[in-house]
Amino acid sequence: MELSSLTAKKLSQMLRAKECSAAEILESILQQINISEKDVGAYITITEEIARKQAKVVDEKLKKGERLGDLAGIPIAVKDIICTEGILTTAASKILENFIPPYNATVVERLLANDMVITGKVNLDEFAMGSSCETSRLKVTKNPRDLKRVPGGSSGGSAAAVAANEAVLALGSDTGGSIRLPAAFCGVVGLKPTYGTVSRYGVIPLASSFDQVGPIGKTVEDVHMLFDAIAGEDTKDMTTLKNRKDEKEFDIRKLKIGIYKELFGERVNPEIATSVMNMAKSLESHGAAIKTVSIPYMEYLVPLYHIVMTIEAASNLGRHDGIRYGYKAKDFEDTEEMYCKTREEGFGAEVKRRIILGTFLSSAQFGGAYRQKAFFFKQKLAEAYAKAFEECDVLLSPTSATPAFKLGESVDPIEMYATDLCTVGANLASVPAISIPCGLVGKLPIGAQLIGPKYSEHFLFEVGEFYENNCK
Ligand code: GLN
Repeated sequence: MELSSLTAKKLSQMLRAKECSAAEILESILQQINISEKDVGAYITITEEIARKQAKVVDEKLKKGERLGDLAGIPIAVKDIICTEGILTTAASKILENFIPPYNATVVERLLANDMVITGKVNLDEFAMGSSCETSRLKVTKNPRDLKRVPGGSSGGSAAAVAANEAVLALGSDTGGSIRLPAAFCGVVGLKPTYGTVSRYGVIPLASSFDQVGPIGKTVEDVHMLFDAIAGEDTKDMTTLKNRKDEKEFDIRKLKIGIYKELFGERVNPEIATSVMNMAKSLESHGAAIKTVSIPYMEYLVPLYHIVMTIEAASNLGRHDGIRYGYKAKDFEDTEEMYCKTREEGFGAEVKRRIILGTFLSSAQFGGAYRQKAFFFKQKLAEAYAKAFEECDVLLSPTSATPAFKLGESVDPIEMYATDLCTVGANLASVPAISIPCGLVGKLPIGAQLIGPKYSEHFLFEVGEFYENNCK
């Protein structure tokens, strides 16, 4: 078996038992990149030489018996929206195609403090706006499970890299589902942590009241390890809190699973609904209780998300003006024209659409009415989730209503926005959610989503690990 196909957990054990070196693990990944990257196209930048140096340092530390991080020597791919010092960081946009950050995001510092090996920066939808990776202005990424299909988005490069064994782990970011959807489409595990759990310092923002960085891996256990490495308070991001763990103890015989009724509606592919229900049933056969739980406001979820997200995105993207950094238009007569041309040429259609909508929704003529109403409903939804968690420990639903669709198939923006139906609720309610593979439609993977109350990541891991170890 190739080292590149093993889990982070297994590789860490082998490294410590001196059954392999960090350099060997890395070479196995680089070899796999050589084989499959021309088809998959996960990476925007491959940092081969830097990775070799990092692996060498790990091997030297090991030899000297120095203390190493739990994920030492594990190759990881980083979504290209997360700043890396001295390494191109594009957000898959033309406007940042030459941007080399002078500093690392806090999450990258944490990977390095853990002695991890960064293999490169991976593709995404432009500024994380999309569900298929197709809005990337730089390249096309394909689903390793079926090269005619999309890997999902926006963290499509992250999920595809892990699924293709071109990285052992990856970092993604999730504003409305961008970790969970590609994880489901590519057959890997992805977690969107509780809002405020992982630092966003140095992460190019999309919508600041939703954005969260999170882990992608082959197993729940691997995602758990990476989450522990990146989570925690950061004085550079005032939304982060001191590590808050849910103290609830996991016991399969006491587990109450809430079937999220509205997310099993007619829009969901019946094979997906059956697979997710089978997951519930197999947990039930080990002692868990199942009950149907309803969370209202279903039809408002996607529109509500788009109001808040576009308003915040329009504001966040104001900084890309051709003056500070990034792309600048060549021919212009005055400053006004320079701004206009830079943004016209630098941003793609989806980004422009959202800037226009967000600017319209927050314009003075409405006096903040859309935003106010959206925040009112966001609060209502959070309350509805909190109420649901009085009846159950975790909510279960499909991660996506359909399996991965074909490249070029979903060109209508409204159709694309609908792919977020199952995922945006967790972002709106600021709660954690994990997508775990639970079957196949033909040869395409299906993701089941487990949603928990705030700070219940470790409980979600226990449920997921139990499922992986006992039900598959
Ligand atoms: N697909 C969603 C969108 O287009 C989610 C994006 C994200 O989570 N970054 O906005």
